[in-house]
Amino acid sequence: MSIIDGKMISSQVKESITAEVEALKSKTGKTPGLAVVLVGEDPASAVYVRNKNKTCKKVGFQSFENILPTDTSEEKILNLIDELNKDEKVNGILVQLPLPDHIDSQKILEAIDPAKDVDGFHLENVGRLVTGDAAFKPCTPAGIIELLDQYKVEIEGKNAVILGRSNIVGKPVAFLLLERNATVTICHSRTRDLPAIARSADILIAAIGKPKFVTADMVKDGAVVIDVGINRVDGKLVGDVDYEAVEKTASLITPVPGGVGPMTIAMLMANTLRAFKNFSS
Ligand code: NDP
Repeated sequence: MSIIDGKMISSQVKESITAEVEALKSKTGKTPGLAVVLVGEDPASAVYVRNKNKTCKKVGFQSFENILPTDTSEEKILNLIDELNKDEKVNGILVQLPLPDHIDSQKILEAIDPAKDVDGFHLENVGRLVTGDAAFKPCTPAGIIELLDQYKVEIEGKNAVILGRSNIVGKPVAFLLLERNATVTICHSRTRDLPAIARSADILIAAIGKPKFVTADMVKDGAVVIDVGINRVDGKLVGDVDYEAVEKTASLITPVPGGVGPMTIAMLMANTLRAFKNFSS
């Protein structure tokens, strides 16, 4: 078994972005900018937003933090999105989810200019992803593909099984794998005999949000296992995979933390740079 080092790969991605940003700055005199919108005081969301701002600074982007109180009206958020859409210094807009219950999240996501939709959640970008013509690939799924590529995992013709069908991980990663000619199966809470399907996987991706759900008997010998799950158990982060047991069976496996997690932010930076280049060209 070998470990897929997401921390190392994400550092390499960020280093190459930093170098490109420096070159672009001296060529164009402009700096890529990412605006982050956070509504409310969810502590996990606050940590994610802080990390995104920190990473922006590290790679040389301008970051625009918009922190709004929980009771902010939908109209006010829509007005802010409108301003950010028009602001030439802002190349990417990210609305941190989840939003408070009184806000229609889909309406907010649809208000973002698709050319600045660096999370890839606008319906136009979702449609493009499905047709294999994604302008912005959603960050976590794009990070998973980057890890597979960096570790030279052959995707074409392989059986890929995804556990979870969310709009932010399960479904988009399925389309990205399909685009790369894998044979893709998606499992969810109504799937019958999930362990048998999981055992057929050459590439197994767990994105369900249940600690240590994937046990060794669900994994074929030599499979590549990607653990997207982030669960807090007794103050410690654990994935959806029973790592200690599965590492003995898998040929490659991502740890939690240090696997998929760091790739998500790196891919957000890559999408923001792409948006900047599209705008400047
Ligand atoms: P969601 O809660 O949106 O979706 C969970 C999916 O898992 C659903 O499709 C659900 O099925 C399925 N599921 C739940 N229980 C079972 C079960 N017992 N058997 C089979 N399927 C089940 O989760 P997300 O996709 O948003 O996130 C999944 C995990 O990944 C979480 O731990 C989250 O924290 C983590 N995550 C990590 C990221 C990273 O950067 N590393 C980024 C995003 C998420 P159904 O549709 O039938 O309800």
